[in-house]
Amino acid sequence: MNKENVLVTGGAGYIGSHVVRDLGEKGLNPIVYDNLSTGNRESVLCGQFILGDIQDTPLLRETIQKYNIKSVIHFAASIVVSESVGKPLEYYENNSINTFQLIKTCIETGIENFVFSSTAAVYGIPKTAPIAETAIMTPINPYGKSKMVTEMVLSDVSKAYPYFNYIALRYFNVAGADREVRIGQNYKKPTHLMTLALRTALGDYPHLNIFGTDYHTADGTAIRDYIHIDDLSNAHLLALEYLEAEKKSRVFNCGYGTGHSVLEVVKITKEVTGIDFLAIPTNRRPGDPPELVADSTLIQKELGWKPLHNDLHYIIQTAWEWEKKLKGAGRREQGAES
Ligand code: UDP
Repeated sequence: MNKENVLVTGGAGYIGSHVVRDLGEKGLNPIVYDNLSTGNRESVLCGQFILGDIQDTPLLRETIQKYNIKSVIHFAASIVVSESVGKPLEYYENNSINTFQLIKTCIETGIENFVFSSTAAVYGIPKTAPIAETAIMTPINPYGKSKMVTEMVLSDVSKAYPYFNYIALRYFNVAGADREVRIGQNYKKPTHLMTLALRTALGDYPHLNIFGTDYHTADGTAIRDYIHIDDLSNAHLLALEYLEAEKKSRVFNCGYGTGHSVLEVVKITKEVTGIDFLAIPTNRRPGDPPELVADSTLIQKELGWKPLHNDLHYIIQTAWEWEKKLKGAGRREQGAES
Protein backbone atom coordinates (compact mmCIF):
# COMPACT_ATOMS: atom_id res chain seq x y z
CA MET A 1 0.00 0.00 0.00
CA ASN A 2 1.16 3.54 -0.75
CA LYS A 3 2.01 5.71 2.21
CA GLU A 4 -0.64 8.29 3.04
CA ASN A 5 0.32 11.78 1.87
CA VAL A 6 -0.19 14.64 4.32
CA LEU A 7 0.16 18.23 3.17
CA VAL A 8 2.23 20.30 5.61
CA THR A 9 2.23 24.03 4.90
CA GLY A 10 5.20 25.71 6.55
CA GLY A 11 6.84 22.31 6.99
CA ALA A 12 10.33 23.79 6.67
CA GLY A 13 9.82 25.98 9.74
CA TYR A 14 10.67 25.30 13.37
CA ILE A 15 7.53 23.46 14.47
CA GLY A 16 6.60 22.17 11.02
CA SER A 17 9.95 20.46 10.49
CA HIS A 18 9.59 18.50 13.74
CA VAL A 19 6.11 17.34 12.76
CA VAL A 20 7.42 16.38 9.31
CA ARG A 21 10.13 14.31 11.00
CA ASP A 22 7.52 12.53 13.13
CA LEU A 23 5.12 11.94 10.23
CA GLY A 24 7.99 10.29 8.36
CA GLU A 25 8.92 8.17 11.37
CA LYS A 26 5.29 7.04 11.58
CA GLY A 27 5.28 5.83 8.00
CA LEU A 28 3.33 8.74 6.50
CA ASN A 29 4.55 10.80 3.55
CA PRO A 30 4.70 14.54 4.31
CA ILE A 31 4.27 16.83 1.32
CA VAL A 32 5.98 19.98 2.55
CA TYR A 33 4.66 23.18 1.00
CA ASP A 34 6.74 26.17 2.09
CA ASN A 35 7.86 29.49 0.59
CA LEU A 36 11.05 29.46 2.70
CA SER A 37 10.35 32.98 3.98
CA THR A 38 11.22 31.83 7.49
CA GLY A 39 11.94 28.13 6.98
CA ASN A 40 15.03 26.27 5.83
CA ARG A 41 15.11 23.66 3.11
CA GLU A 42 17.63 21.55 5.03
CA SER A 43 15.23 21.27 7.99
CA VAL A 44 12.95 19.03 5.95
CA LEU A 45 14.21 15.60 6.97
CA CYS A 46 11.81 13.50 4.91
CA GLY A 47 8.97 13.53 2.41
CA GLN A 48 8.54 15.71 -0.64
CA PHE A 49 9.42 19.41 -0.78
CA ILE A 50 7.46 21.94 -2.84
CA LEU A 51 8.57 25.56 -2.98
CA GLY A 52 5.23 27.32 -2.86
CA ASP A 53 3.31 30.13 -1.28
CA ILE A 54 -0.13 29.61 0.23
CA GLN A 55 -1.22 32.66 -1.76
CA ASP A 56 -0.56 30.66 -4.93
CA THR A 57 -3.96 28.98 -5.10
CA PRO A 58 -3.42 27.24 -8.47
CA LEU A 59 -0.22 25.56 -7.22
CA LEU A 60 -1.86 24.64 -3.94
CA ARG A 61 -4.81 23.09 -5.72
CA GLU A 62 -2.54 21.24 -8.14
CA THR A 63 -0.49 19.89 -5.22
CA ILE A 64 -3.56 18.69 -3.31
CA GLN A 65 -4.89 16.92 -6.40
CA LYS A 66 -1.57 15.48 -7.56
CA TYR A 67 -0.83 13.89 -4.18
CA ASN A 68 -4.43 12.91 -3.46
CA ILE A 69 -4.32 14.82 -0.18
CA LYS A 70 -7.04 14.29 2.43
CA SER A 71 -5.26 15.81 5.44
CA VAL A 72 -3.58 19.19 5.86
CA ILE A 73 -1.47 20.45 8.74
CA HIS A 74 -1.19 24.20 8.45
CA PHE A 75 1.81 25.97 10.02
CA ALA A 76 2.69 28.67 7.48
CA ALA A 77 2.15 31.85 9.49
CA SER A 78 3.78 34.86 11.13
CA ILE A 79 4.36 34.23 14.81
CA VAL A 80 5.97 37.10 16.70
CA VAL A 81 3.63 38.82 19.16
CA SER A 82 5.70 42.01 19.48
CA GLU A 83 6.19 42.29 15.71
CA SER A 84 2.45 41.96 15.12
CA VAL A 85 1.83 45.13 17.14
CA GLY A 86 3.82 47.19 14.63
CA LYS A 87 2.78 45.24 11.52
CA PRO A 88 -0.91 44.40 11.97
CA LEU A 89 -1.65 44.44 8.25
CA GLU A 90 1.03 41.81 7.57
CA TYR A 91 -0.31 39.61 10.34
CA TYR A 92 -3.93 39.81 9.22
CA GLU A 93 -2.87 39.22 5.64
CA ASN A 94 -0.67 36.24 6.33
CA ASN A 95 -2.48 34.61 9.23
CA SER A 96 -6.10 35.41 8.42
CA ILE A 97 -6.55 36.23 4.73
CA ASN A 98 -4.04 33.72 3.31
CA THR A 99 -5.29 31.02 5.66
CA PHE A 100 -8.86 31.82 4.67
CA GLN A 101 -7.84 31.28 1.04
CA LEU A 102 -6.18 27.97 1.99
CA ILE A 103 -9.32 26.80 3.81
CA LYS A 104 -11.41 27.73 0.77
CA THR A 105 -9.14 25.67 -1.46
CA CYS A 106 -9.38 22.77 1.02
CA ILE A 107 -13.17 22.88 0.85
CA GLU A 108 -13.12 22.99 -2.95
CA THR A 109 -10.75 20.03 -3.16
CA GLY A 110 -12.53 17.84 -0.62
CA ILE A 111 -9.99 17.96 2.22
CA GLU A 112 -11.36 16.09 5.23
CA ASN A 113 -8.88 16.75 8.03
CA PHE A 114 -7.27 20.06 8.93
CA VAL A 115 -4.89 20.62 11.84
CA PHE A 116 -4.41 24.29 12.60
CA SER A 117 -1.58 25.97 14.56
CA SER A 118 -3.37 28.30 16.90
CA THR A 119 -1.99 30.02 19.93
CA ALA A 120 -2.49 30.80 23.59
CA ALA A 121 -2.43 34.43 22.46
CA VAL A 122 -6.14 34.05 21.61
CA TYR A 123 -6.83 34.23 25.36
CA GLY A 124 -5.42 37.73 25.83
CA ILE A 125 -5.03 38.38 29.55
CA PRO A 126 -6.54 35.23 31.06
CA LYS A 127 -8.67 35.57 34.17
CA THR A 128 -7.36 32.25 35.43
CA ALA A 129 -4.11 30.32 35.35
CA PRO A 130 -4.18 27.61 34.15
CA ILE A 131 -6.65 28.53 31.44
CA ALA A 132 -9.06 26.07 29.79
CA GLU A 133 -10.28 25.99 26.19
CA THR A 134 -13.72 27.12 27.33
CA ALA A 135 -12.38 30.56 28.28
CA ILE A 136 -13.59 33.35 26.08
CA MET A 137 -11.16 34.53 23.39
CA THR A 138 -10.12 38.12 24.08
CA PRO A 139 -6.74 38.53 22.37
CA ILE A 140 -4.78 41.71 23.09
CA ASN A 141 -2.43 41.78 20.10
CA PRO A 142 -2.85 41.47 16.32
CA TYR A 143 -1.11 38.06 16.33
CA GLY A 144 -3.69 36.55 18.69
CA LYS A 145 -6.54 38.29 16.89
CA SER A 146 -5.38 37.07 13.48
CA LYS A 147 -5.40 33.47 14.79
CA MET A 148 -8.75 33.89 16.51
CA VAL A 149 -10.30 34.99 13.22
CA THR A 150 -9.10 31.77 11.58
CA GLU A 151 -10.46 29.65 14.42
CA MET A 152 -13.84 31.30 13.88
CA VAL A 153 -13.72 30.67 10.14
CA LEU A 154 -12.81 27.02 10.75
CA SER A 155 -15.63 26.58 13.21
CA ASP A 156 -18.24 27.98 10.80
CA VAL A 157 -16.86 26.14 7.78
CA SER A 158 -16.78 22.79 9.58
CA LYS A 159 -20.46 23.21 10.45
CA ALA A 160 -21.42 24.07 6.89
CA TYR A 161 -19.33 21.32 5.25
CA PRO A 162 -19.74 18.13 7.29
CA TYR A 163 -16.94 16.26 5.46
CA PHE A 164 -14.45 18.86 6.72
CA ASN A 165 -13.21 18.63 10.32
CA TYR A 166 -10.44 20.51 12.06
CA ILE A 167 -8.44 20.54 15.25
CA ALA A 168 -7.06 23.87 16.42
CA LEU A 169 -4.05 23.38 18.67
CA ARG A 170 -3.45 26.40 20.88
CA TYR A 171 0.28 26.42 21.44
CA PHE A 172 1.73 27.89 24.58
CA ASN A 173 5.50 28.70 24.48
CA VAL A 174 7.20 26.18 22.25
CA ALA A 175 10.90 25.66 22.87
CA GLY A 176 13.75 23.14 22.69
CA ALA A 177 15.11 21.19 19.76
CA ASP A 178 15.27 17.77 18.15
CA ARG A 179 16.74 15.05 20.40
CA GLU A 180 19.43 14.33 17.80
CA VAL A 181 20.12 18.06 17.30
CA ARG A 182 19.26 17.93 13.59
CA ILE A 183 16.61 20.64 13.60
CA GLY A 184 15.61 23.54 15.85
CA GLN A 185 14.72 27.21 15.83
CA ASN A 186 16.73 29.19 13.31
CA TYR A 187 15.50 32.74 12.90
CA LYS A 188 17.73 35.50 11.63
CA LYS A 189 16.34 37.98 14.13
CA PRO A 190 15.26 35.92 17.14
CA THR A 191 12.79 37.46 19.56
CA HIS A 192 12.02 34.51 21.83
CA LEU A 193 13.31 34.53 25.37
CA MET A 194 15.12 31.19 25.40
CA THR A 195 16.95 31.74 22.13
CA LEU A 196 18.05 35.21 23.20
CA ALA A 197 19.14 33.97 26.63
CA LEU A 198 21.21 31.16 25.07
CA ARG A 199 22.75 33.46 22.48
CA THR A 200 23.61 35.94 25.21
CA ALA A 201 25.33 33.06 27.02
CA LEU A 202 27.22 32.35 23.79
CA GLY A 203 28.40 35.97 23.74
CA ASP A 204 26.34 37.12 20.74
CA TYR A 205 24.72 39.90 22.76
CA PRO A 206 26.19 41.97 25.60
CA HIS A 207 23.11 41.38 27.75
CA LEU A 208 19.57 39.99 27.85
CA ASN A 209 16.62 42.34 28.37
CA ILE A 210 14.05 41.41 30.97
CA PHE A 211 10.87 42.94 29.66
CA GLY A 212 8.96 44.06 32.74
CA THR A 213 9.62 43.42 36.42
CA ASP A 214 6.40 45.01 37.68
CA TYR A 215 3.90 42.31 36.75
CA HIS A 216 1.63 40.96 39.50
CA THR A 217 3.55 37.69 39.66
CA ALA A 218 5.72 36.22 42.42
CA ASP A 219 8.99 37.73 41.13
CA GLY A 220 7.46 40.53 39.03
CA THR A 221 8.36 39.00 35.65
CA ALA A 222 5.98 37.45 33.13
CA ILE A 223 5.05 33.78 33.33
CA ARG A 224 4.79 31.34 30.42
CA ASP A 225 4.14 27.64 29.96
CA TYR A 226 7.14 26.32 27.98
CA ILE A 227 6.41 23.13 26.03
CA HIS A 228 9.10 20.99 24.42
CA ILE A 229 8.88 20.80 20.64
CA ASP A 230 8.76 16.98 20.63
CA ASP A 231 5.70 16.90 22.90
CA LEU A 232 4.03 19.54 20.75
CA SER A 233 4.86 17.66 17.58
CA ASN A 234 3.32 14.48 18.97
CA ALA A 235 0.07 16.37 19.63
CA HIS A 236 -0.24 16.95 15.87
CA LEU A 237 0.05 13.27 15.06
CA LEU A 238 -2.55 12.42 17.68
CA ALA A 239 -4.80 15.17 16.31
CA LEU A 240 -4.60 13.66 12.85
CA GLU A 241 -5.42 10.19 14.18
CA TYR A 242 -8.38 11.64 16.09
CA LEU A 243 -9.74 13.41 13.02
CA GLU A 244 -9.46 10.27 10.94
CA ALA A 245 -11.14 8.10 13.57
CA GLU A 246 -13.71 10.44 15.13
CA LYS A 247 -14.44 12.88 12.29
CA LYS A 248 -15.09 15.64 14.82
CA SER A 249 -13.78 19.19 15.13
CA ARG A 250 -12.04 20.14 18.38
CA VAL A 251 -9.89 22.79 20.04
CA PHE A 252 -7.07 21.83 22.41
CA ASN A 253 -4.50 23.66 24.51
CA CYS A 254 -0.91 22.50 24.12
CA GLY A 255 1.07 23.22 27.24
CA TYR A 256 2.11 21.48 30.44
CA GLY A 257 0.16 23.48 32.99
CA THR A 258 3.44 24.60 34.55
CA GLY A 259 4.36 28.28 34.57
CA HIS A 260 7.91 29.65 34.61
CA SER A 261 8.86 33.29 35.05
CA VAL A 262 11.41 35.10 32.90
CA LEU A 263 13.80 35.17 35.87
CA GLU A 264 13.45 31.40 36.30
CA VAL A 265 14.29 30.86 32.64
CA VAL A 266 17.36 33.07 33.05
CA LYS A 267 18.45 31.17 36.17
CA ILE A 268 18.08 27.75 34.57
CA THR A 269 19.77 28.92 31.37
CA LYS A 270 22.77 29.93 33.47
CA GLU A 271 22.73 26.53 35.21
CA VAL A 272 22.46 24.53 31.98
CA THR A 273 25.12 26.50 30.10
CA GLY A 274 27.38 27.05 33.11
CA ILE A 275 27.75 30.64 31.88
CA ASP A 276 26.88 33.75 33.84
CA PHE A 277 25.53 36.54 31.66
CA LEU A 278 24.04 39.95 32.18
CA ALA A 279 20.22 40.22 32.35
CA ILE A 280 18.97 43.79 32.60
CA PRO A 281 15.43 44.76 33.66
CA THR A 282 13.71 47.10 31.23
CA ASN A 283 10.18 48.20 30.28
CA ARG A 284 7.39 45.76 29.48
CA ARG A 285 7.18 44.72 25.84
CA PRO A 286 4.00 45.87 24.07
CA GLY A 287 1.36 43.17 23.61
CA ASP A 288 2.70 40.84 26.34
CA PRO A 289 0.19 39.34 28.79
CA PRO A 290 1.47 38.79 32.35
CA GLU A 291 0.77 35.06 32.62
CA LEU A 292 -0.13 32.28 30.19
CA VAL A 293 -0.40 28.74 31.53
CA ALA A 294 -2.37 25.94 29.89
CA ASP A 295 -4.98 23.71 31.38
CA SER A 296 -4.10 20.65 29.30
CA THR A 297 -6.60 18.25 30.85
CA LEU A 298 -8.66 18.05 27.68
CA ILE A 299 -5.93 17.06 25.23
CA GLN A 300 -4.66 14.43 27.64
CA LYS A 301 -8.14 12.96 28.04
CA GLU A 302 -9.37 13.22 24.45
CA LEU A 303 -6.21 12.56 22.44
CA GLY A 304 -4.37 10.47 25.01
CA TRP A 305 -1.51 12.97 24.83
CA LYS A 306 1.17 12.28 27.42
CA PRO A 307 3.75 14.98 28.00
CA LEU A 308 7.24 13.48 28.21
CA HIS A 309 9.47 16.54 28.65
CA ASN A 310 7.85 18.76 31.25
CA ASP A 311 11.25 19.83 32.51
CA LEU A 312 12.68 23.27 31.88
CA HIS A 313 16.24 21.94 32.26
CA TYR A 314 15.68 19.41 29.47
CA ILE A 315 13.99 21.97 27.23
CA ILE A 316 16.84 24.45 27.65
CA GLN A 317 19.48 21.70 27.35
CA THR A 318 18.19 20.61 23.93
CA ALA A 319 17.94 24.24 22.76
CA TRP A 320 21.49 24.82 24.06
CA GLU A 321 22.91 21.89 22.07
CA TRP A 322 21.17 23.26 18.98
CA GLU A 323 22.43 26.83 19.48
CA LYS A 324 26.00 25.59 19.93
CA LYS A 325 25.70 23.54 16.76
CA LEU A 326 24.28 26.47 14.77
CA LYS A 327 27.01 28.77 15.94
CA GLY A 328 29.70 26.20 15.26
CA ALA A 329 28.41 25.57 11.76
CA GLY A 330 28.06 29.29 11.05
CA ARG A 331 24.62 28.51 9.67
CA ARG A 332 22.61 31.18 11.41
CA GLU A 333 22.64 33.67 8.56
CA GLN A 334 20.65 31.24 6.43
CA GLY A 335 17.67 31.43 8.76
CA ALA A 336 15.25 33.97 7.43
CA GLU A 337 13.85 36.69 9.61
CA SER A 338 11.12 35.44 11.85
N1 UDP B 1 11.14 38.20 27.14
C1 UDP B 1 12.12 38.92 27.82
N2 UDP B 1 13.27 39.20 27.17
C2 UDP B 1 13.50 38.86 25.87
C3 UDP B 1 12.50 38.14 25.19
C4 UDP B 1 11.33 37.84 25.86
O1 UDP B 1 11.96 39.27 28.99
O2 UDP B 1 14.57 39.19 25.34
C5 UDP B 1 9.88 37.87 27.83
C6 UDP B 1 8.63 38.37 27.13
O3 UDP B 1 8.36 39.70 27.48
C7 UDP B 1 7.59 37.37 27.59
C8 UDP B 1 8.39 36.07 27.79
O4 UDP B 1 9.77 36.46 27.86
O5 UDP B 1 7.07 37.76 28.83
C9 UDP B 1 8.25 35.10 26.63
O6 UDP B 1 8.46 35.80 25.43
P1 UDP B 1 8.70 35.08 24.06
O7 UDP B 1 9.00 36.14 23.03
O8 UDP B 1 9.72 34.01 24.22
O9 UDP B 1 7.33 34.37 23.73
P2 UDP B 1 5.81 34.96 23.65
O10 UDP B 1 5.18 34.61 24.96
O11 UDP B 1 5.89 36.44 23.39
O12 UDP B 1 5.22 34.22 22.51
